[in-house]
Amino acid sequence: MSFSQLGICPEILEAIEVLGFETPSPIQQQAIPPALEGHDIVGLSHTGSGKTLAFSIPALENIDPNQRSVQVLCLAPTRELAVQICREVDKLALFLDGVSAVPIYGGASFAPQLAALRRGVQFVVGTPGRVIDLMEQGELPTEHITTLILDEADEMLDMGFQEDIDRVVSLLPAERQTLFFSATMSPAIRALINRLSDNPQEITIERPVLTVPTCEQSVYEVVFSSRIEVLSRLIEMGRMKRGLVFANTKRVVDDVVDGLLARGYSVDRLHGDMPQTLRERVMDSFRRGNLNVLVATDIAARGLDIDDVDIVVNFELPRDPEDYVHRIGRTARAGRKGKAVTFIGRRDFSLLARIERFIGTRMQHEKVMTAVQVEEARREALVDDILEQAAHATELPDELRDIDLPAEQLMAAMFNLLVAKGSCELQAIPEDRPSRYGKRDSNDSEPAPAAEKGNDWSSLQQSTTLFMNGGKLIGVRPKDVAGLFYNEGGAPKGTVGDIRIFLKHTLIEVSPEMAPQLLERLATCSICGYEVNVREDKKPEGDNRPAVHVRDRRSGGSSTYPGKSERGGRFERAERYNNNRQRERSDRNERKERGNRRDREDSPFFSRFTKKPRRS
Ligand code: ADP
Ligand code: MG
Repeated sequence: MSFSQLGICPEILEAIEVLGFETPSPIQQQAIPPALEGHDIVGLSHTGSGKTLAFSIPALENIDPNQRSVQVLCLAPTRELAVQICREVDKLALFLDGVSAVPIYGGASFAPQLAALRRGVQFVVGTPGRVIDLMEQGELPTEHITTLILDEADEMLDMGFQEDIDRVVSLLPAERQTLFFSATMSPAIRALINRLSDNPQEITIERPVLTVPTCEQSVYEVVFSSRIEVLSRLIEMGRMKRGLVFANTKRVVDDVVDGLLARGYSVDRLHGDMPQTLRERVMDSFRRGNLNVLVATDIAARGLDIDDVDIVVNFELPRDPEDYVHRIGRTARAGRKGKAVTFIGRRDFSLLARIERFIGTRMQHEKVMTAVQVEEARREALVDDILEQAAHATELPDELRDIDLPAEQLMAAMFNLLVAKGSCELQAIPEDRPSRYGKRDSNDSEPAPAAEKGNDWSSLQQSTTLFMNGGKLIGVRPKDVAGLFYNEGGAPKGTVGDIRIFLKHTLIEVSPEMAPQLLERLATCSICGYEVNVREDKKPEGDNRPAVHVRDRRSGGSSTYPGKSERGGRFERAERYNNNRQRERSDRNERKERGNRRDREDSPFFSRFTKKPRRS
């Protein structure tokens, strides 16, 4: 099936070709032909199924380009969606001379919107409140409107727009075509349809499977205070070229953005309280790839067409399983590969189970990646980037022509430079520890080494421990050690396990078969500008106390000390206390945000609405 079989005019077909769409989606296949014949349409299909084109094409064909007055009115729940629909319509109208669309929404100044209306646009996409205002002021003439579109009708009703929709419709000519689109059906929507249209053609596209099948979904159990760190590790792993992070409240969105900015990532936010112009700017830079990470609330992101997101992170589990589906629907669109990562806390298990039942999929529980795994993934991602770049780089740069070194050596040097460049310092988090109850902490007589084999602390099945006479005091970090062992030591991927950094020394677990080579190559080496030695761990007197990770709250950094179990107990308690406070705060915010939800998207309208009744 191709677009040319749907009865679309040549100008729009040409634009579709320019846009690169080849096959109409099911909703487009079924809705466009009857809509072109003039029928009213009720189209029900899930997010991302291509509804915008399904109504924009027939609406555009209804327009008489010679008549410079509003002929199509599309109502949409949010400003962002209105802007996005207009963008799509303008692209489709590329070859339709003199036809253009304009978004009309609250929370922005009237002037530019009025100017556009006075210029004589034919296609208006607006949020209900502002549309009523302009109609009542006589700035949005209704007498030539022949097509009414309701997009995301379910969302509009959820947001309390029912009366406004009825009011808008009462001001429109009775003789018109109504195109009605929604992701879900409900009795309220049914009633609305019956009021607005008689005998529409109803098209329902069943979602094949509720979630996107190419999207790999995993879950990390992480306490709230560790989540920024785990998110940073995900970014560091090099696969987040464009990541979308969801939080439940504006407050958490702000916290995440601030946390990531402080670590030097290119990140921005999207939530309902931001001025419109700012939101548009953010959306644009995300679309153009200038931002790696966008952090958003559900409402701000709902219905937005953000393409090419390679990973969606649920910084918090959404309360509503449908929100989960909407969130992860942002990745793996149109058959591309994508990934969804969800952070959960200990109390989220029942909610998670509810979501899993709703989507009919079990999610993969994964352990938080260690510093070593992050390093390995970064290197792999770098190799991928290099290979991608190699496809375009066929000429040796002039600067390198006269260098008399074997290519291999040059390549190794370049790779090491790339590895060293732009890597960020990881911080220790409780999830890095062997277990929540700190087995390693115990000074009791349990044979600890046996427990290390294959447990969740060590990533190696069998390991030999190496000793390095440099540690925290000279600024050694896990990534420095990983870099040293991989680059200088020539350790293959997966052969370096747990790295424990003490004040004056570091213990490194490696695969036994790699130990001899590493001992030889790293017998004398340098790290953090100091010359050090790597040798077998002889467990000198006084140093075989177990390591306890302590988070240094003042500097935000962390350190690892040999310590006593008492330290661990206190740490656990402090951690629990902090988590509870954090959770209370976030619950409180969420309740607040839920309360605000109604009046957020179109605040000028709502504030007026509550102050004095507008209708006469
Ligand atoms: P919905 O409104 O149903 O959530 P959209 O209209 O926003 O979905 O479309 C989702 C994405 O799919 C957009 O990026 C859009 O450009 C793209 N798209 C729409 N129709 C097609 C098509 N026929 N072929 C390929 N991509 C399409
Ligand atoms: Mg849509």
